[in-house]
Amino acid sequence: MFKKILIANRGEIALRIIRACRELGIKSVSVHSTIDADSLHVRFADESICIGPADPAGSYRNIPSILSAAEITDCEAIHPGYGFLAENANFAEMCETAGIKFIGPTPDNIRLMGDKARAKETMIKAGVPVVPGSKGAVTSEDEILLLAQKIGYPVIIKASAGGGGRGMRVVHSAGSLINSFLMCQSEAVSSFGCPDVYIEKYINEPRHVEIQVMADEHGNVVHLGERDCSIQRRHQKLIEESPSPALTPKIRKKMGEVAVAAAKSVNYMNAGTIEFILAGDQFYFMEMNTRIQVEHPVTEMVTGVDLVKEQIKAASGMPLGFRQEDINITGHSIECRINAEDPEKFTPCPGKITSFNTPGGPGVRVDTAAYGGYTVPPNYDSMIAKLIVYGKDRDEALSRMSRSLEEFIVEGIKTTIPLHQKILKDPIFRSGKFHTGYLEKFLGM
Ligand code: ADP
Repeated sequence: MFKKILIANRGEIALRIIRACRELGIKSVSVHSTIDADSLHVRFADESICIGPADPAGSYRNIPSILSAAEITDCEAIHPGYGFLAENANFAEMCETAGIKFIGPTPDNIRLMGDKARAKETMIKAGVPVVPGSKGAVTSEDEILLLAQKIGYPVIIKASAGGGGRGMRVVHSAGSLINSFLMCQSEAVSSFGCPDVYIEKYINEPRHVEIQVMADEHGNVVHLGERDCSIQRRHQKLIEESPSPALTPKIRKKMGEVAVAAAKSVNYMNAGTIEFILAGDQFYFMEMNTRIQVEHPVTEMVTGVDLVKEQIKAASGMPLGFRQEDINITGHSIECRINAEDPEKFTPCPGKITSFNTPGGPGVRVDTAAYGGYTVPPNYDSMIAKLIVYGKDRDEALSRMSRSLEEFIVEGIKTTIPLHQKILKDPIFRSGKFHTGYLEKFLGM
């Protein structure tokens, strides 16, 4: 096992990884930007190194600074968390070259899955169902016109290198196809540095259901059930839950098996998520996220597996601590992402938190790096906390979430707590019968 790990991240996920290190008896080194000097991830790590200015390009995305920080503190491994360098294959490769273990998938895994069009092609070869669409990237106007006609409208154009809900355009008729194609291409260049786009059928009112997988270096691949992430705004997840209210035991089993086969087909290593789009009882591969995800706690709550500890153990060469038959899903877990945003306009709302009270009691978990007196900087993601609840069933989880949201006090800045409270009261959300377009309809967008 490693003796010392560097955490190349900030905020709640950096704290989450520090906690895993502590429990495993591993020393942790955090890195921070100048603006984050008073952060909890700095306070709770055994050591911390300032790696640059507030702008992430100079700090949390600064590969040479991070590698030097790992070298001078004698770290044997780096955990990238999510975002920043987590899905940067070059960074994973440079860690390897420097003799530092990257806690995550192999550079090849990251590279393959990071190219969404190539990932889809690979999945087709592995026999995984995918949304009907182009084979790889589409390059010409004639090609996309023909393809869209064949697939049938509406279609969705996606950037191969896209992510985080960005770089996608839905097209309802041939009239706007070429214009959208060209815009998508130029956006892909400016946002992701690669012009490749691909096209697929736009599935009407689907659900987003994803499977968590874990793989070790001994050929074991296990799935840990699903997460339903259909509550989204502009393709960004807001509420996640496990199990999905939409899966029958039969589809759940099939989806899990397909996810394991997909991971095996690419010799996948460490934690990953296979995202599917579910329409009725048909599901299709959408993409694979090669990192620990924001919503991983709901899986931890219903399986009892500590995914971050398993990531560290797997990276150190240990076999997984469980087999497929050991994974039993019990109860129900829901996560609400609390963002420092105006709950109506969704504009970021950084600033000083004057008062902060986190909920507690049975079945409640709060993952946050915020505290009373903390100033949310404007330079990073607006998520300031994740409120996760567990209940014996969905009903109990729903009531627990409602009462926990009431107990959650954040003053000084605006947050999405009031929005979550409204959603939790909505009969459609409570019924569990919703699709990815639900929230935008609910908000009247
Ligand atoms: P990202 O990497 O940006 O998260 P995804 O490919 O995972 O992109 O898609 C994000 C969201 O966009 C999905 O959760 C779903 O709501 C919607 N989406 C993506 N592809 C389709 C599709 N073919 N039909 C309908 N909705 C889609």
